[in-house]
Amino acid sequence: MNANTSLTRLICRPVALALTALSLLSACAPESEPDAAVSAGSTVERPAIIAHRGASGYLPEHSQAAFTLAYAQGADYLEPDLVMTADGALVVLHDLYLDAVTDVRERFPGRAREDGLNYVVDFTLAELRELRMHERIEPESREQRYPARFPADRGRFQIMTLAELIELTQGLNQTLGRDVGIYPELKYPPHHSDHGHDMAAALMAVLENYGYVGQDANCVIQSFYPAVLKQLRFEMDVEIPLVQLITTGTHDGIDYEAMLAPEGLDQIATYADGIGPYWRLIVTDIDASGSPRFSNLVSEAQDRGLIVHPYTFRADALPDGVDADTKLEWLLKDSGVNGLFTDQPDVMRAFIDDTSSQQSVD
Ligand code: CA
Repeated sequence: MNANTSLTRLICRPVALALTALSLLSACAPESEPDAAVSAGSTVERPAIIAHRGASGYLPEHSQAAFTLAYAQGADYLEPDLVMTADGALVVLHDLYLDAVTDVRERFPGRAREDGLNYVVDFTLAELRELRMHERIEPESREQRYPARFPADRGRFQIMTLAELIELTQGLNQTLGRDVGIYPELKYPPHHSDHGHDMAAALMAVLENYGYVGQDANCVIQSFYPAVLKQLRFEMDVEIPLVQLITTGTHDGIDYEAMLAPEGLDQIATYADGIGPYWRLIVTDIDASGSPRFSNLVSEAQDRGLIVHPYTFRADALPDGVDADTKLEWLLKDSGVNGLFTDQPDVMRAFIDDTSSQQSVD
């Protein structure tokens, strides 16, 4: 790689992450005409649409159907959470246990731990293949988390492996001529190490097998756990973009409030390429008249070269008095984030397309 190529890549990298596949080439190639996505000026970026567990607002989270719909609705990235089985397979699930999204209690009675939950790491991949996956319910009350979403007692969905999600994504990229990326999250690495699994090593084995290598791989790796991101960057020399997820308070001994301070962001910039904060760390208050108050987090992070991809936009679970377009306007236009996790990729896609068509008319 010559110096010019390297420089272009460095300059374009945050932009490339935020742009759709269609606009990516022209954004990074000065000799070509800018397309509609960037024609309104150099400061205009198209925020990345990150399909949170697939189009999970419409179909059971993490199902093949949900990912396929997210792809069809114009997502830029498909986002799987990852946990590991007893025999070391990376599977696409949010919880460490199976009880909220599968029929494990009926299928494998007597396998729960003392807390009454059935843990993924206690089951083999072959056993998980026997489960019916369904819309998220509360494990004890059996009530749906989001009652208006896909009925939990309907449909036949199955747990996917990471490899299967990648094959779906890359296959659709081939048949539809797009370049949709993946955005895997490593869930609870310390729990997996306690059971003898090295999540980072398992993830990289799968990613390398499917050609996701280097900083231009159409992949972003995220975790709430700084240690696993540092392992990837410093011990395994992984150049794929890394995003530090940030929540509130302290969990598992990790002080997320400290990450928000200037020194915390400085520290993140040494091992990661971006942050994924809870969106209420950006819109910190909504007053009685419905007006938002913003933190400086987006500019503080971007000033350090970090991209900002907050979570989560849910069109069907909004704060009182706030509609979907208003929340999108706050995050995508007023605060200027580089992308957003969403359960409804179509709603975010429509907002972005409307906004960019208005700007090209201006
Ligand atoms: Ca996630």
